[in-house]
Amino acid sequence: MAHELDIIPGTEWGFFTLPRPMCIAGPCSAETEEQVMETAKGLNAFGIHVFRAGIWKPRTHPGSFEGVGTPGLKWLKKVKETYGMKVCTEVASEKHVLECIKYGVDVIWIGARTSANPFLMQEIADALEGTDIPVLVKNPVNPDLDLWIGALERLNRAGLRKLGVIHRGFSTSAPIPYRNDPGWKIAIELRTRYPKLAFFADPSHMAGDRKYLLELSQRAMDLGLDGLMVESHCDPSCAWSDAKQQLTPHDLQTLLESLVIRDNTSENEAYKEGIDALRTRIDVLDENLIKLLADRCKVSGQIGQYKKDHNVAILQAGRWEQVLSDMIEKGKALGLSEECVSAIMNAIHDESVRVQNRVLEGD
Ligand code: PEP
Ligand code: MN
Repeated sequence: MAHELDIIPGTEWGFFTLPRPMCIAGPCSAETEEQVMETAKGLNAFGIHVFRAGIWKPRTHPGSFEGVGTPGLKWLKKVKETYGMKVCTEVASEKHVLECIKYGVDVIWIGARTSANPFLMQEIADALEGTDIPVLVKNPVNPDLDLWIGALERLNRAGLRKLGVIHRGFSTSAPIPYRNDPGWKIAIELRTRYPKLAFFADPSHMAGDRKYLLELSQRAMDLGLDGLMVESHCDPSCAWSDAKQQLTPHDLQTLLESLVIRDNTSENEAYKEGIDALRTRIDVLDENLIKLLADRCKVSGQIGQYKKDHNVAILQAGRWEQVLSDMIEKGKALGLSEECVSAIMNAIHDESVRVQNRVLEGD
């Protein structure tokens, strides 16, 4: 079922300026007034318009620094007044929302542990009803696209139309170099379903280490995402939370300047003709692929019938392993990766087993 969202694109909120990336930057946590003001000054100096800082911090262990709480909102207000920046923080309850409204926070974001919780999402949506504050929803910690969309729907039903998302990767136990699995596939799926949603990547929480920030930010831009939320601190190594992943404002500026930003599309006539011709070729190839698959299914059905007539089991593992490894070798010779051939052939084989089962049950 398609879940409609009635959204105002980020470019119409009045403060994200193009060209890409739209950038939100600031420390993981507001720690002191000096740290907040010093960081904001550094960011404002090279044109960052939206300042982030966590005021209430969701921490894994009790007793870690859990944020400065409401006093930090006064510092955000001071950032607005001093530098004219918009300010942004994370909320996880009705109380947080009411405090943010009271102190004039311009944008709020919902953290990954909160967007995974429909009770909290509903509480936040109810508290926001009647405002038009932009809300950015981080992906839930687990790779559940429906849960992410459900969080957006709750806000949208409460009348919020300035909605966006922040992709910060998913928890994983797999041995990967990053803190969270980028799982770009889910982000692309969401982007395709809701092209109007302001779409940010958070390379900081994805990476967990500043050495990966550039490659992840570049990837986000290559995928055509609108913006980045990056953690930046005036003195990263002394940060009270997420010290390893934060950048000084100066290093953030260097990172942003070294990104290669490609256009999402081009109005150039020669480009349009060229891309149309290539797409026509792809469409023809796709049609041929589908016809070939249909032919293959017919033969699978005939094999099923033949096995049935001779009382032979459908699954013959040895044979399938042989076919798969032959195809992987042939694919490699043609420049196709093992991953690609194996995923496609396994999907085809699953369908073939289904077709043969149907023949077997069809008496
Ligand atoms: C954050 O942005 O500081 C934060 C806690 O992020 P996440 O919810 O992605 O872990
Ligand atoms: Mn953080």
